[in-house]
Amino acid sequence: MTQESLEKRREKGERAERIAVLLPLPFPTALDYLAPEGAVSPGDLVQVPLGKRQETGCVWDRESDVPADFAPVPAREVARTRLKPISGKLDMPALPGDLRRFIAWLAAYTLTPPGLVLAMAIRARHTKPPRVVHGWVRGTEATEGLRMTEARQRVMAALGPHPATTASLAERAGVSDAVIRGLAAAGALREEVVTCDPLFGTPDPDFDRPRLSPEQGEAAHELSSAVREGGFATILLEGVTGSGKTEVYFEAVAQCLAQGRQCLVLLPEIALSTQWTDRFARRFGVQPALWHSELGGRKKRETWYAIAAGRAQVVVGARSALFLPFPALGLVIVDEEHESAFKQEEGVTYHGRDMAIVRARLAGIPVILVSATPSLETLTNVEAGRYRHVVLHGRHGAATLPRVALIDMRKAPPERGQFLSPALLGAMRETLARQDQAMLFLNRRGYAPLTLCRSCGHRMECPNCSAWLVEHRARQILTCHHCGHHEPLPHSCPSCAAEASLVPIGPGIERVHEEVRHHFPEARILVMASDTLGSPSATAEAVRQIAAREVDLIVGTQIVAKGWHFPDLTLVGVVDADLGLGGGDLRAAERTVQLLHQVGGRAGRAEKPGQVLLQSYLGDHPVMQALVSNDYQAFMAQEAAQRKPGFWPPYGRLAALIVSADTAEAADGLAGRIGARAPDLPGIQVLGPAPAPLAILRGRHRRRLLLRTRRNVAVQPILRNWLEGLKLTTHERVDIDIDPISFL
Ligand code: ADP
Ligand code: ZN
Repeated sequence: MTQESLEKRREKGERAERIAVLLPLPFPTALDYLAPEGAVSPGDLVQVPLGKRQETGCVWDRESDVPADFAPVPAREVARTRLKPISGKLDMPALPGDLRRFIAWLAAYTLTPPGLVLAMAIRARHTKPPRVVHGWVRGTEATEGLRMTEARQRVMAALGPHPATTASLAERAGVSDAVIRGLAAAGALREEVVTCDPLFGTPDPDFDRPRLSPEQGEAAHELSSAVREGGFATILLEGVTGSGKTEVYFEAVAQCLAQGRQCLVLLPEIALSTQWTDRFARRFGVQPALWHSELGGRKKRETWYAIAAGRAQVVVGARSALFLPFPALGLVIVDEEHESAFKQEEGVTYHGRDMAIVRARLAGIPVILVSATPSLETLTNVEAGRYRHVVLHGRHGAATLPRVALIDMRKAPPERGQFLSPALLGAMRETLARQDQAMLFLNRRGYAPLTLCRSCGHRMECPNCSAWLVEHRARQILTCHHCGHHEPLPHSCPSCAAEASLVPIGPGIERVHEEVRHHFPEARILVMASDTLGSPSATAEAVRQIAAREVDLIVGTQIVAKGWHFPDLTLVGVVDADLGLGGGDLRAAERTVQLLHQVGGRAGRAEKPGQVLLQSYLGDHPVMQALVSNDYQAFMAQEAAQRKPGFWPPYGRLAALIVSADTAEAADGLAGRIGARAPDLPGIQVLGPAPAPLAILRGRHRRRLLLRTRRNVAVQPILRNWLEGLKLTTHERVDIDIDPISFL
C-alpha cells in the first residue's frame, strides 16, 4: 500500500486502529501509530514518521496475542489524539512470527533495546526489492496460424526450459528485440518472472546420496527422524574429525528439503567455507545461499528476498543468519558448536550457538549441534537429558586418527633464537622425503609479539591500548592487534635512543616462516593467516593449491584448523602448544584442547596415517595429556570437576559489566559507584570492580565486574535492578555481556 492509498482510505472515513511499531533504534519499547483498520498485521514493514524523519519499522505484536515465553516489547502508551498515522506499508515480505519472537527474546535475554536487535534483521534489506527480471517462455498460442519468418523460427528454436531475457534471447537467435515483441504480441511467447535465479537453484535431496557405513546410517536415521517428526529438539552429533559428521548431517538436510522446508547451517567462519560449499554442491547439485558480513550490498538484498520468498532453501551462514526471515524453517545446524567464534563480542553480544537453540525452540523445529570436541555446556546438557546424543566412533573408511606426541621443549629445545625443535624439524624432513605434506600451526599473526630494547628494556606498546605492538616484518610496521594502530619500525629505541637495540621477542607466523625457509629452501611453502588470506577467494585459491599438491609445507594461524580435508597432509606440528593456556580465562584449557585437537585432525584424513607433534614446555599439563592420550572425555570430566564447586559455567551463570570512560579516574569512579550498589543476595556473587586485562582499549579506560549466580537464578532481573537509575555522562559507558566467554 502506498502513501496515497492510505490517504484515500482515511478520506473515505475508514476507522483507524492503534498499532505498535518497533523501529530499528535504541528505544526501550515499540511506538504507537495509527493505521486504517485491518491494513497492516504484525510483521509487516511500514514507513512511519518520527519527528521530521521517515523511518522503516516493523508492526509489532501486542502483548495479548503472543506466546508465554515471548518477552513482549510493550508499546509506549500515548494518548490516541496525539498518535500519528503510518505513512505507508512497504511492498515487502513480512517478518515471520517466530523471527519476531526471537528478536524480542534475544533483546530481553541480552538486555538490549529490542529495536537494535530488529536492526540486525532488517539491516541488509533495502526498501526497494531487487529488480524483478522477466524472461520469455513458449506461449499458449500455437505458431501454426502465424506468419513464421525465418527470424521468428530461430527465436522459437532458441527457447529453453527456463525463461530467457529479451537480450539473451535476441542474441541467441540473432534477431532484433522487435521480432521478440512481435511474437509476444501474437501470444507465441509468454513473459514469466525469472524465479529460477541461478544463485539459488533448488537443491536436490537425491542428487548424489553417499553410501553410509552402518554406524553413519544409524546416526543419519536418527537425525532425519527428528526432522520428519518436527518439533523442538536439540541433538548433539559428536564424532572424531573425519568420521563423516558432515556427510551424516547432510542426510538431515535432505530430509528437510524433501519436506519442502528451509534449512540453516551455521559455520563459525563462513568466509573460509569454500570446501564446505563445494561439498554441498556435490551432494545436492547446487550451491547453497551464503550469508555473511562480507557479502556485497546487492547480493545481500537478493539473498534476503530469496530467503523471505522461500526460494533459497539452504542457507549457510555466520551467526547473523539467525535473523533472516525464513518463512518455513525446518532445521538449524550448528557446525563446530564449541567454537568461540560464534560469540558476537561487539554491539549486541550474543552467542550464536545458544541463540540457534532459542531460534529452533521458538520455531518448534530441531537443532543439531556438531562437534568432535563438544563444549562443556553442551555435554552437561546431554548428561542432564536435555539434549539427545548421536555419536560416530571412528574415522570413515581406512583413515585412522593421527598419533599425537609431545616434544618436551625443556629437554630438547630449539637452537638459540629459533623456535622449531630438532625433533620437529626431523619429522618435517621425513614427511617431505615421503612426498607428503606437512603443516605448522602457530596461533599468532605477524613476526614477533613483542619488541624490546636490549639496552634499556623498553617495550614497544600501543599508545591507545594496554597491549604490546606486534611486529609485521613484511610490511615493516609495528601494529596493535586490538585497535589497528600502526607505526613504522623505529631504528633506535624511543626511550633511550640506543641505535639498533630493538629486538623481536617470541615468534609469530612470519618468523616461523622465515625459519622454515632457512631449513627447507627447496620446499614450496604457503603461509595461511587471516591477514594474508583475508578474502574467501584467496582462501579458496590456497586450498586449491594445497589439494593440487602445489605446496609442500603450510605455515598457518587458526585458519588452518578449520574443517579442511587434505588427503596428502600427514604431519601437523604445533609450534607452541602452551600458547592459549596463559591468562585467567575460565575456558583456556578447554579451548586449547579443542583447538589443538582440531588442528591435529587435519593430519592423515585419507589412507595415509597422520602424526601430530606438540611442542610444549608444560608436558605434564592436563591439556597435553588429554591430547596425547586422545581422551577428551576424561579431560572434560576433569574440567567439570573443577568448575562445579565454584558454580562456574555451565554450573552457574555469569554476566560481565564492562565499565569504560575516557580517563582512569572516571573509570574508577564509575566502577566504584556500580560496585557500591552491587546486589547482595544469596546465591549471587559480584567479583570486582577490577581493571580489565586490556585496561586501556582504543584510548578508553576499562574496568570489569563479574556477576556470578547459581544456574537456577536468572541474571537479567538482577542486572536490571542493579543498573536501574544509573546516570551516565556521555563519556561513560557500561556494556553488559551475558554469558561472557572472553574476559579481556
Ligand atoms: P567430519 O565432518 O566428521 O570431519 P567428514 O564428513 O568431513 O567428517 O568426512 C571426512 C571425509 O570422509 C570426507 O572426505 C568425506 O567425504 C568422507 N566420507 C565420510 N563418510 C563417507 C561415506 N559414507 N562415503 C564416502 N565418503 C565419506
Ligand atoms: Zn591499540
